[in-house]
Amino acid sequence: MKPSLIVHGGAWDIPNEAVRACNEGCRNALGAGWSILASGGSALEAVEAAVIALEDDPVFDAGFGSHLNADGKVECDAIVMDGATLRAGAAAGLQRLKNPIRLARKILEECPHMMLAGEGAERFANASSLVLCKPEELVSEAEWEAFRRCSKDEHAAIHHRGHEQGTVGAVALDREGRLFAATSTGGTCCKLPGRVGDSPLIGCGCYADSQAGGVSCTGYGEAIMKVVMAKTAVDFLRRDSSNEEEKRAVAQQAVQNAVQLLAERGRGTGGLILLDRSGTPAFAFNTPRMAYGFVNPDGSFVTAV
Ligand code: ASP
Repeated sequence: MKPSLIVHGGAWDIPNEAVRACNEGCRNALGAGWSILASGGSALEAVEAAVIALEDDPVFDAGFGSHLNADGKVECDAIVMDGATLRAGAAAGLQRLKNPIRLARKILEECPHMMLAGEGAERFANASSLVLCKPEELVSEAEWEAFRRCSKDEHAAIHHRGHEQGTVGAVALDREGRLFAATSTGGTCCKLPGRVGDSPLIGCGCYADSQAGGVSCTGYGEAIMKVVMAKTAVDFLRRDSSNEEEKRAVAQQAVQNAVQLLAERGRGTGGLILLDRSGTPAFAFNTPRMAYGFVNPDGSFVTAV
């Protein structure tokens, strides 16, 4: 099977001055994931590597540099899902993990449950030999400054101007036909402590089914949850298509329908990336911009914001 990879760095009103950094971030993530897929590695390794690259980049709202909650703390959520087994590993409300996606993978591979939250999730991380950091180590200067301005005044996009950020995600298909999807986020800025959005929820912020395709979402979590956007988009793929052109049309229709549903029934904004079961990429968003990237069949990278 021909491998395929698509990534995103969030769908928001990304300002001009952040476009270059978002493009570079997506390119680095493609590089990290594609070096694994191109040499015959697994889709799980690829989505993990791509998401780690995005989490480590403070231009995105995941890992270090995540938005702060109303207490001025980072609280991250992440998920990875296996399209073959429909098993997921998900974690929510993490305050002490630099790379929440690593914990999601540990939960997928080593935990009898599919989702852990808060202190229990961190205890599992520690027992699985992941290193815990201090909560302050996840706070970037830019986010602290935005939080300070929001606390003095009220939460407003203007206080985040110049470094609006987004959730990150990746979907990969490997040579063996294994399909994985992953999403990682710091959630929305100035959220109430304990708030969990769509991102770590199976079917909402992420879904993968090898019989149809895989999706990672971004945007206003409270709206994405209403329409269970990732699973809904994957279900739109459950149609037979005989040739490449038809596959592309079905994939594109699926993401467009999902965004339309988000707008009309969820009354929200956001976007999603998708690979169908044979690796056809598609994306859509109804925000001013989304940061994304995918790999062409000839191995060249496309990124855009
Ligand atoms: N969907 C995320 C959340 O609501 C935010 C985002 O995608 O930027 O937590």
